[in-house]
Amino acid sequence: MQFIDLKSQYAALKPEIDARIQRVLDHGQYIMGPEVAELEQRLAAFSGAKHCITVASGTEALLISLMALGLKPGDEVITSPFTFIATAEVIVLLGGVPVFADIEPDTCNIDATKLEAKITPRTRVIMPVSLYGQVADMDAIQEVATRHGLPVIEDAAQSFGATYRGRRSGALSTFGCTSFFPSKPLGCYGDGGAIFTSDDHLAQACREIRVHGQSKRYFHTRVGVGGRMDTLQCAIVLAKLDRFGWELERRLALGERYHALLDGVPGVGLLAVRDDRDCVWAQYTVFVRQRERVQQALQARGVPTAVHYPRPLHLQPAYEALCCADCCPASVHASQHVMSLPMSADLTEAQQEAVVAALREAVKPSGAH
Ligand SMILES: *Cc1c(COP(=O)(O)O)cnc(C)c1O
Repeated sequence: MQFIDLKSQYAALKPEIDARIQRVLDHGQYIMGPEVAELEQRLAAFSGAKHCITVASGTEALLISLMALGLKPGDEVITSPFTFIATAEVIVLLGGVPVFADIEPDTCNIDATKLEAKITPRTRVIMPVSLYGQVADMDAIQEVATRHGLPVIEDAAQSFGATYRGRRSGALSTFGCTSFFPSKPLGCYGDGGAIFTSDDHLAQACREIRVHGQSKRYFHTRVGVGGRMDTLQCAIVLAKLDRFGWELERRLALGERYHALLDGVPGVGLLAVRDDRDCVWAQYTVFVRQRERVQQALQARGVPTAVHYPRPLHLQPAYEALCCADCCPASVHASQHVMSLPMSADLTEAQQEAVVAALREAVKPSGAH
């Protein structure tokens, strides 16, 4: 069994993907070819945001968004410490200071009630992460942001396709940034990402920053980066969109089924999914004790697992200057207990039952109790 099954997905979509790739090879516009604009239109329509700007990766999407907002050295950005490193990395790259607010212990998303206390005169942006595919509490976050006149960037790298109160992840704030890394809910076959916004000026800024700050050829109105997503990767995502609706339904159903099968199993804690949103399960993550032992027992039964993430960002060596004593206890606790199980739209019910059976065995206390 694979942790994420990308081979079955390609097998199901081979004619569409191969034809899309061939078309790019035939027209030869490898950079900013017609597939780029086509994908941007389709994704904007899907998300409900006015603009979609494809970029080289999810990391680049976050970086370009912060650049478009004019983040300067010393500016503070409030974000979650329980996320992939890229979320904080882009802030530091621009000379900014990540300020970590702790997570809700049951969803692992940033706790909106902890934001207010973190706001200072240097705060410029609030950057929640929609972890594991469940959107953070964006309305509560937006309420704090509005009160302080701050823009919000949703790190939607894991949540593309998820909904929050009937609206799509990515279109819920000033910016939404997603990733098409192959293992994400909507992946390409390399690196890619996208920025969503409904603000015309910010969208234009992002389009310029993505091509070295160029507003017309060899005329640079601002400092930018080489941040385009290439045409071939856009073509691959376009082919995958044909099946994405089905994949989302599968992910939701498999997530619910995991929850039902694991509910009440002693030693397994489930992630809470709020009633007003659904989770696309970029990772199906549970809480366990003695994680290493459980992972080894699962591996011995042929079930691969992973940990997202074993160390919160404020405890990473490169970021430890940002650490305050005891500042994010829920993040530290989560980092010690989370474990992700195999998940993808092509996971079969039988495979899922095998995972659950293996996990039931693996979490049984060794020895008498
Ligand atoms: C994957 C991921 C990113 C970075 O995306 P890349 O496309 O790999 O650069 C950023 N934030 C989160 C939460 C992610 O999961």
